Amino acid sequence: MEQYPIPIGNLIEQLSKLPGIGRKTAQRLAFYILDMEDIEVEKLSKSIVNAKEKIRLCSICCNLTDDDPCYICKDTNRDKTTICVVEGPKDIIAMEKSKEYKGEYHVLHGVISPMDNVGPKDIKVKELLDRLTDGVVQEIILATNPTVEGEATAIYLSKLVKPLGIKVTRIAHGIPVGGDLEYFDEVTITKAMENRREI
Ligand SMILES: [Zn+2]
Repeated sequence: MEQYPIPIGNLIEQLSKLPGIGRKTAQRLAFYILDMEDIEVEKLSKSIVNAKEKIRLCSICCNLTDDDPCYICKDTNRDKTTICVVEGPKDIIAMEKSKEYKGEYHVLHGVISPMDNVGPKDIKVKELLDRLTDGVVQEIILATNPTVEGEATAIYLSKLVKPLGIKVTRIAHGIPVGGDLEYFDEVTITKAMENRREI
């Protein structure tokens, strides 16, 4: 182990806990931070503490927000009869970029994964069901990822929601725009075939 003064060692250790940051990158970042202006370092550290303090879950859709309810749930122009269920907050940002979808969202904060000891109680399933009791919602769009866990979670949710008389749909998965058939794995091609439509 490299011999650094304790404060530098601590900084490297904390940075290396971040995802995608190996020890080498953590060292590089630590020395970069030490070279930064005091004011910039202060801004960086304050922004971390501030984000952690201010951001919480929207009490309706469980999205990350500094304002409860979040801006999407508050927006009266959005279609309250449709909820798109996603795995994480980043999925909402991706969906919103398309400007195609005008309904509401629900963030599960994970997927059911028995291998990782994640059950329905560990993600925001109850919070979703609570939103379906007033008869407003008419369609649930399951937009979990096309992984084994994402599919299993979608099937689990559809079994819970369908008996409530609410339409349940699953987003189509398949060949992305600009894709080349020969490079896709069989799961992608199978999904694309399943989701084919008449033209
Ligand atoms: Zn919300």
